[in-house]
Amino acid sequence: MRVRTDFICELNQKKLWLRREDLIKEEVKGNKFRKLKYNLIEAKKFNSNAILTFGGAFSNHLYATALSGYLNGIKTYGIVRGNEWEEKIKDSPTLVNCVNYGMGLIFVSRETFKKKNDREFWGIIKLNPSKFYIIPEGGTNELAVKGCSEMLEKKDKIYDVLCCPVGTGGTIRGLINSSAINQKVIGFSALNNNLKLDIDRHTDNKKWELINKYTFGGYAKSNNDLISFINNFRKRFDVQLDPIYTGKMLYGIFDLITNNHWYWGRNILIFHTGGKQGIEGFNKRQIKKGLSCII
Ligand SMILES: *Cc1c(COP(=O)(O)O)cnc(C)c1O
Repeated sequence: MRVRTDFICELNQKKLWLRREDLIKEEVKGNKFRKLKYNLIEAKKFNSNAILTFGGAFSNHLYATALSGYLNGIKTYGIVRGNEWEEKIKDSPTLVNCVNYGMGLIFVSRETFKKKNDREFWGIIKLNPSKFYIIPEGGTNELAVKGCSEMLEKKDKIYDVLCCPVGTGGTIRGLINSSAINQKVIGFSALNNNLKLDIDRHTDNKKWELINKYTFGGYAKSNNDLISFINNFRKRFDVQLDPIYTGKMLYGIFDLITNNHWYWGRNILIFHTGGKQGIEGFNKRQIKKGLSCII
């Protein structure tokens, strides 16, 4: 699959290129398309009643799963973190879209959600897990990593650095697996959990690094600096970034390079992993708190 690459700018003698996974022709865009690709094939083979997965009320993964199910004629179920959302689905454009794509939503308390990997979880929600093709929260499993490894193409050997945002680590693991010997993979954490150990456990390639400095306080947290960076980026380069993943990564890349803390080569390929579906919901929350919005 051909994906566009845009030259962004030269900064402190580094050349920045953006791989536009957010613009792929498939209806499900970004890395969630990559992560679901082989899972959808497997789900069809498995001949399960439905796909079941997990996520927060603004999750890109829930959205992508619902849309993929709709397009492929597979029933989907989403376990949503926070039972308060049952009464206010309308406050989340993500959940509204999930419902429109035919996803059955099951709302559970935050405590119950934490138990989702325990046996007792299924008793609490009164479902039989063997009836479903289950995809973990965030969509990361071995098939997802395989899908993400296809984000890199042979001709990408000309870049010496590859950058991506990191949530559950599936995307960076895919890139690490398919990167060439001369390439360094730099991940930018979107949350404060230390994923380094988990990625380490799955890969023997040491040519990667995880930057934890640009989480902006944690998952889905932000500040005015980040919002103005995202808005300026759009004005300057005509590229929309999202506030959860790609905005934090690009903020970090620009900050490190301008402050001479970039040690990894001059030709940088940056993966725009998508996430634009979340902007409307993000802005709704910002307005409620009286904070600035993404324009
Ligand atoms: C989910 C997501 C990520 C993180 O991917 P992981 O494989 O969970 O690390 C990055 N960017 C966007 C836009 C995402 O939706």
